[in-house]
Amino acid sequence: MRQKVVVIGGGAIGSAIACLTQGTPGFSGEITVIERDPRYTRASSALSASSIRQQFSSAINIRMSAFGIEFLRRAGELLAVGNERPAVGLTEQGYLFLASDSGIDILEENHRLQRANGADVVLLDPAQLRERFPWLATGSVAMGSLGLSGEGWFDGYSLLQGLRRKARALGVTYLAAEACGFERDGARIGAVRLADGSSVACDVVVNAAGPWAREPAAWLGIELPVRARRRCVFVVSCPVRIEDAPLVIDPSGVWCRPEGRDRFICGISPDAADDPDDLALEVDHALFENIVWPTLAARVPAFEALRLTGAWAGYYEFNTFDQNGIVGFHPQVQNLIFANGFSGHGLQQSPAVGRGVAELIVHGGYRTLDLSPLAFERIAAQRALIERNVV
Ligand SMILES: Cc1cc2nc3c(=O)[nH]c(=O)nc-3n(C[C@H](O)[C@H](O)[C@H](O)COP(=O)(O)OP(=O)(O)OC[C@H]3O[C@@H](n4cnc5c(N)ncnc54)[C@H](O)[C@@H]3O)c2cc1C
Repeated sequence: MRQKVVVIGGGAIGSAIACLTQGTPGFSGEITVIERDPRYTRASSALSASSIRQQFSSAINIRMSAFGIEFLRRAGELLAVGNERPAVGLTEQGYLFLASDSGIDILEENHRLQRANGADVVLLDPAQLRERFPWLATGSVAMGSLGLSGEGWFDGYSLLQGLRRKARALGVTYLAAEACGFERDGARIGAVRLADGSSVACDVVVNAAGPWAREPAAWLGIELPVRARRRCVFVVSCPVRIEDAPLVIDPSGVWCRPEGRDRFICGISPDAADDPDDLALEVDHALFENIVWPTLAARVPAFEALRLTGAWAGYYEFNTFDQNGIVGFHPQVQNLIFANGFSGHGLQQSPAVGRGVAELIVHGGYRTLDLSPLAFERIAAQRALIERNVV
């Protein structure tokens, strides 16, 4: 059967879904991606820290990142269009989660789960940490968890553009337009209405609207617990060379990682009590001065001499219910698929989400990777899938 698929949002998630669905053997039909900001000026996928880790606290997230790293390692080949192979610049230098005394139990529990799911991680005591990373001050650190492979960072914008280019080469249409409503057909959506008054008929609709995903859900009277929460990234240069640093996450939540040869990027998520929805995309410089810099200077003494060279702000598409993706069909609106709420780990999960949603569309169920723990039903049932490692 030929299917008309409409994807609202052409960021990494929407583009991965379009690309992998169109490329799935057995798919027959046409895919339209509706994207109102084709230069991605506000899209999370273009404003991300673009890092990938296996160190999660839930099995589903670990398995999705295992899929993600394999995809990134082969992105040049998988996303090639003719002779052009996108370079996503994958740098596998690991993540280092640091824990103080009070965090040891959780670190060890996560470690067991990560190992059981195939993650290449090791626990290090303070002496081992100092030996491996002589630039690190380990005062107040009781243990660290280091990813030995399968973790690091990449060029998120190149991944986004590579997915989009490949999707178009396979026959996907990108419409530069704003979706603003649905036309209902009983328990189904018959068409997506556009702001210019036209509409696009559909057999399946995917909500991939990132931080704005609650809006398409609200057109159907569905409350989707996804909100736009601002996160700031600071770019710094450091006069002292620090070789082969991983992405370090301090027990306070402050993180930093190398960016190119002589720069680092860093940041912290604000306290839950100070994290309103929809803040303007302006950089909160006080966060750097008052929290990020002093914390980093204490953890890496060479950072006392760092210099701020740039900064940007973007939105997490924050799932206020349990900080995990919401993926799959809606239980009542029969042809609506969600791919939302990834809460700061959506770029690394975009290949797995693309694969899973493609299988839902083509086969009506998951084949490669079972994403059913992320189903929408858990929200109505109040069955939270808590992810403790939200950075
Ligand atoms: C500062 C920061 C750091 C991050 N760090 C990481 C990280 O290290 N690793 C990681 O994996 N993830 C990270 N993330 C999260 C990751 O970037 C996101 O989870 C991911 O990019 C979400 O992709 P998306 O396609 O759902 O959303 P987006 O990229 O925002 O795309 C959604 C698109 O939908 C479009 N849209 C919305 N509504 C409509 C409409 N009505 N009509 C038409 N178009 C519409 C928007 O214009 C937008 O382009 C970070 C995010 C931020 C902001």
